[in-house]
Amino acid sequence: MLHIRCTKCGNKAIYYRVYSGEKLCNACFCSSVMEKVKRTIAKFNLLKYGDRIGVAVSGGKDSLSLLKILNEICKPHASKLYAITIDEGIFGYREEAIGICKKFIKEINVPHYVFSFRKLYGFGLDDVIKLRKSKISACSICGILRRRALDIAAKELDVNVIATAHNLDDIIQTFMINILNGDTDRIRWLDPEIKPRSAFIIRRVKPLMEIYEKEIAMYAFLNNIPFQTVTCPYMNEGIRSEIRFIINALEDKHPGVKYNILNTAIKISQGLFMEERVLMVCKLCNFPSSSELCSVCKILETIKGNIIYKNH
Ligand SMILES: [Zn+2]
Ligand SMILES: [Zn+2]
Repeated sequence: MLHIRCTKCGNKAIYYRVYSGEKLCNACFCSSVMEKVKRTIAKFNLLKYGDRIGVAVSGGKDSLSLLKILNEICKPHASKLYAITIDEGIFGYREEAIGICKKFIKEINVPHYVFSFRKLYGFGLDDVIKLRKSKISACSICGILRRRALDIAAKELDVNVIATAHNLDDIIQTFMINILNGDTDRIRWLDPEIKPRSAFIIRRVKPLMEIYEKEIAMYAFLNNIPFQTVTCPYMNEGIRSEIRFIINALEDKHPGVKYNILNTAIKISQGLFMEERVLMVCKLCNFPSSSELCSVCKILETIKGNIIYKNH
């Protein structure tokens, strides 16, 4: 990008946004990301004046970038931010991430709370995986337990909305996976304006949903946001990595195609009809559930040896 000038201000460009044709300098790139997030929030009514927002911060570049961006956007709107980190109890992995989180979050002066699986459930993820008797994957178990942990954290901190750092790439990959699985319920859940089915569940929003993953990586790099070096030992992406590869290849040939997929996903999600299922109350934890025992209690009771949990 030597000698190439920023389309907006004429300074030295450092980034070429292929799908729009813009060449951007450091400052114009960062403010364009910020403006895009603001537009997403307004377009889908993600946040409102005075919200108490819990930001799920894992220590990865996406969640730290989200926290920094929301901190700057929300300051003038009397909204309060709380950084929430879930410690799943993954030996050798979570320690580094929590260290990164603590240092960064202190620097930008946001209150930070860590909730651990061990404290909430009596078991860390390592124990659950060792003791599990069904074939349910580590990522599915972790996802179920993490979702609940965030709801508990939100209740405890009295936040009314939880922001997660899913980016455009994450969302369209999930959309494609759901298409391949024929899982229309999960496509319905991609609607950014969907309301939770119960007062026990805190509304989730994804303010980075219209930002390419590559642009968040660039934003993190330009803002000295630390990068985690260790990857999760349980990571098994399966079909997601194949889909990522295919979509990236399409985007290379047809810049902007990722946006089109996202817009299609949102339109379909908003047009889908989902049967209203009557929610029961889990007999052990009182959280809403589609059967007698909720999925969290099924996992915990299985590893305690009290029930045999067959996956789906
Ligand atoms: Zn510029
Ligand atoms: Zn339960």
